[in-house]
Amino acid sequence: MTSFRAGVVAIVGLPNVGKSTLLNLLLGQKIAIVSARPQTTRNRILGVKNLDGAQLVLIDTPGLHRPSGKGRSELNRYMVEEALRAFQDVDAVLVLAEAPTEPDYKIPPSHAALLDALAAAKKPSVLALNKIDRARRKDLLLPALDAWSRAHAFAALVPISALRGDGVDQLVEELRKLLPEGERLFPEEMVTDRAERWLAGEMVREQVFILTREEIPYAVAVTVDSFKERAKDVVIDATIHVEKEAQKRILVGERGKMVREIGSRARREIGGLLGCPVHLKLFVRVDEGWSQDARALRDLGYE
Ligand code: GDP
Ligand code: MG
Repeated sequence: MTSFRAGVVAIVGLPNVGKSTLLNLLLGQKIAIVSARPQTTRNRILGVKNLDGAQLVLIDTPGLHRPSGKGRSELNRYMVEEALRAFQDVDAVLVLAEAPTEPDYKIPPSHAALLDALAAAKKPSVLALNKIDRARRKDLLLPALDAWSRAHAFAALVPISALRGDGVDQLVEELRKLLPEGERLFPEEMVTDRAERWLAGEMVREQVFILTREEIPYAVAVTVDSFKERAKDVVIDATIHVEKEAQKRILVGERGKMVREIGSRARREIGGLLGCPVHLKLFVRVDEGWSQDARALRDLGYE
């Protein structure tokens, strides 16, 4: 008889490689928000995938990145620390990178710190090259896999598409092999450690990322002020915090058009998550310099 395996795997990689997309696909449910912009994910999110004879606990981290230029803020420092911390208490690491679309592949230099950390952590790891659906030339894949296998002793290297699901079953099998023998870490019915209330706030923040431009997405935090479950629906009040009056004007939009659009899109997403109708009331409030101030970050739940 084979014994049960259970363990925690951190998904790490540069911003925008598809970590949250992969987590959502693996769980068959959207718990991590996704946008085409880097640094959409701000907090560590834990997801539980139950397999036959194993429990795979996945941690979606904010992207590993070096703070630079305008990002040199308290928020940035927090995100780097958070990503590195996610490394410490895991059984294995899944490194996600993008599959090449051009010849002459080189591992992006920005991965140096990640590879160093990986070697130092001495954790078993798997590399997945994501977005193979975009790669028109499949022959470009081999040199990339070769480069990665020379850079670190990965237990396996798997090309995948988190968007379409290609290669994902194989990836799960490779990760399963790295899990230690042991009992389930979480109850079988649990999908995430994040409360629905927190997820609802993230769904609002996701729409801000999708619908606004330039510095606005990064100037925003969302708090859920009230979350009332009634017999047939849920009533949610949430506040979108911004740093400046000018940002508030953009978020509210002409005659409230923008905040209404954010609200109606987020309402549909939250309804999908909760499986019932949702009434969502959004407020926009100026909280000067919240992203610069570590204490304000803690107050907003970013610790
Ligand atoms: P994260 O920052 O690593 O969490 O990346 P996200 O999951 O937020 O994804 C960043 C962007 O890449 C989004 O626009 C996704 O839709 C897109 N993306 C993720 N996986 C794939 C994939 O397999 N193929 C393609 N074409 N796009 C993907
Ligand atoms: Mg993400």
